[in-house]
Amino acid sequence: MKYGIFGGTFDPIHMGHLRSAEEMVQELALTKVFLVPAATPPHKDRISVSEFRHRYNMAKMAVGRSTTLEVLDLEAKRQGPSYSVDTLRELNSSLGPENDLHFILGLEAFFEIHTWKEYHRLFELCHLVLVDRKGYYFDQVSPYLEKLRIKIRPTEDPARFVFTSGKNLIHKKVTQMDISSTQIRALIKKKKSIRFLVPDQVMGYILQNGLYE
Ligand code: ATP
Repeated sequence: MKYGIFGGTFDPIHMGHLRSAEEMVQELALTKVFLVPAATPPHKDRISVSEFRHRYNMAKMAVGRSTTLEVLDLEAKRQGPSYSVDTLRELNSSLGPENDLHFILGLEAFFEIHTWKEYHRLFELCHLVLVDRKGYYFDQVSPYLEKLRIKIRPTEDPARFVFTSGKNLIHKKVTQMDISSTQIRALIKKKKSIRFLVPDQVMGYILQNGLYE
């Protein structure tokens, strides 16, 4: 079984996240993409990330009845900061040795990977799928990895490389949606509409709970 895992703060989840996950299911022929909201994101220095339950509820609402997108709360079940390496280990052991896990990450998040706990291990635990983000370029990936002393070898496919662990590094283009959670929070603060940036139900939840005001 081929699975995708897409982590994030999701504060709030928006159409950019959802569309990327949806396109990855199809492009990579994944059985499912797990959306994993970080309980205590170690990289967000914003003082007030919304409570996990709100971010989780919104993600659940956003995927609705999708059979290919599923929201997991496993980071909330662990103590302390949410490290991806721990989540990947946990998923690997619960899905069993036959699984084929693809860790999906926007390019801007990838270029921070040297600050992540045990980042070298990530390239042994799963395939890495890098999704284009505005202002970040895939041709910067190779020199970045070289600096970190992580080896990759090219394949016939210019969008696929292989780590020494045998796991793949895959470059994927997705429909570029210039949407961010930061933008959504800012619009709400200014009492402006966020309709069509997030699913309707998520918009309703934000307004009902007075989030980001
Ligand atoms: P913030 O603005 O609060 O930093 P964000 O919108 O970037 O949030 P995150 O929850 O930090 O969202 O991102 C989770 C993952 O989603 C990251 O891998 C990021 O690259 C990706 N992502 C965020 N926005 C988009 C988008 N518009 N299109 C595709 N991927 C996205």
